Amino acid sequence: MTETFENPAHITIIGAGLVGSLQSIYLAQRGYQVTVFEQLPDIRKEAIPAGRSINLALANRGIHALKEVGVMEQVKPLLIPMKGRMLHDEAGNLKLQSYGQKPEEVIYSVSRAGLVSLLRDKAEATGLVTFHFKHELKAIRFNRKRCDVENTVTAVTISHDFEYLIGADGGGSQVRACIEALEETEVSSELLDHSYKELTVPAGSEGDFQLYKEALHIWPRGEYMMIGLPNPDASFTMTLFMPNKGEASFEAIKNPVQLERFFDEHFADVKALIPDLTHDFFANPTGYLGTIRCNDWHYKNVILTGDAAHAIVPFHGQGMNAGFEDCAALNAALEASDDNWDLAMPIFEASRINNTNAIADMALENYVEMRSSVRDPKFHLKKKIAFELEKRLPEFFIPRYSMVMFHLIPYAEAQSRGLIQNKILDQLSNHVEHIEEVDFERGERLVMQKLPRLS
Ligand code: FAD
Repeated sequence: MTETFENPAHITIIGAGLVGSLQSIYLAQRGYQVTVFEQLPDIRKEAIPAGRSINLALANRGIHALKEVGVMEQVKPLLIPMKGRMLHDEAGNLKLQSYGQKPEEVIYSVSRAGLVSLLRDKAEATGLVTFHFKHELKAIRFNRKRCDVENTVTAVTISHDFEYLIGADGGGSQVRACIEALEETEVSSELLDHSYKELTVPAGSEGDFQLYKEALHIWPRGEYMMIGLPNPDASFTMTLFMPNKGEASFEAIKNPVQLERFFDEHFADVKALIPDLTHDFFANPTGYLGTIRCNDWHYKNVILTGDAAHAIVPFHGQGMNAGFEDCAALNAALEASDDNWDLAMPIFEASRINNTNAIADMALENYVEMRSSVRDPKFHLKKKIAFELEKRLPEFFIPRYSMVMFHLIPYAEAQSRGLIQNKILDQLSNHVEHIEEVDFERGERLVMQKLPRLS
């Protein structure tokens, strides 16, 4: 059955995830009426699984966008600062490695459900945004500027006219699939041969945190790793990342005995803190990870944003942050074009594609850093050298991690400067074991020769 949806809106968004919800606020603040279709129930009203990753790391790019729309003060109570990586070795030894070297250089753990609920509240409070939950986009008729959306409860299909439609419907985007079907964009989709599983370290008997609260915990084990992020209820959400196949893999752990043995051997210090290990491991879904890159993010009156345009692996903690930066970039493009969408869409796309491709690469590289490089003393020496060079020449040298997490330096610039910086760090750390032995005068000369001043 088909019916015409009343109240045609100026802007239609598909997907009320983190990016679609924030995007709707930006647009409402520009005076647009916004209609958002979301296939899932509203997490504010119905208890549904938060989906991928219960909590996430929020960093400067995301914070910048949240400040632009004026919600950061309300977000703050949801945040737990994470000052650095707490590394857990096989023997249970701990080492805290700071992410930055200034007090404000921290990242924050935030609940996905808490943040998205707050953004939806804020969007509705504008009086210009209407969410339609349990409505799934099925098809787009681009020439007629019309899309078909199915009410998932009644199975009734609504035909909705749009002026401009934003696909914020995540990595498996149906909007992107509709554009792809017309061969109007080339999409590359690379599935990682590693997946993830979420486990829980609950609060202690006194309601206390059982691991150090203000850190992102990592158990790096070479080919695989587990991480843990704190939650406001004093629990930690643990995520085990492992190959799909092979000796140490999801495929290899078939029963509780094998699971116990695996944890006894590789994660002994934390095993006792996961009382529901067997249940969590076998009942929780195994999540797939991948990278999606699109050549074109818009076709006619339809544009992609967030994971729909550029899903990345989670190892730099930047997927949501990059999506929030998209929202700020689309807003800037609308501002620059006096809200002429036909001009704004290509401006937005041109400002983002190289940058999101760059963070996609860096996110993949960071997996190796987190699960393996952090075990190498040379890695820690290079980190120390990088901090010292930043202290000496802050206008020329900022460690790559800091450029990505604590600054708004475009991702592509962070990537290209990072390559040069890494060569300098290799040269300075070659044949050296301690920071005291490093020739920093040479280091300063190399930096000044090879790196342009930061813009
Ligand atoms: P989504 O969050 O996927 O939202 C898309 C929405 O669209 C969903 O609500 C979905 O139900 C809806 N939808 C889909 N199809 C349709 C349809 N046909 N019709 C209607 N609605 C539809 N990022 C960080 O910045 N920091 C982190 O620490 C971090 N950690 C992560 C850890 C893991 C394990 C994973 C998997 C990801 C992590 N990310 C992190 C990435 C982050 O989750 C994503 O980048 C972010 O969720 C993207 O938001 P989005 O709104 O674009 O997409």
